[in-house]
Amino acid sequence: MPIYIYKVKEGLRGCKFCKEGFEVFQKINEEPLKRCPKCGEEVIRIFSSFSVGFSKTGLDRRAKEKGFHKLKKVDKGKYEKLY
Ligand SMILES: [Zn+2]
Repeated sequence: MPIYIYKVKEGLRGCKFCKEGFEVFQKINEEPLKRCPKCGEEVIRIFSSFSVGFSKTGLDRRAKEKGFHKLKKVDKGKYEKLY
């Protein structure tokens, strides 16, 4: 499943969450996020990758090293923070 990393748009305030960037698992045909699920500020997708070729733990570690939070979509418009 592709993992997308979002960050608040440059110049916008955002919150701690989207300023640091967060990862979202989304289906390939899902619309990219336009707004931070926490504060509603506009976000941009800065990086995306497929988990193919990476072990899950490797990805998690990489994300943690970069200080990204990880979100899992649990429902339409609802995200669960994994860390
Ligand atoms: Zn935010």
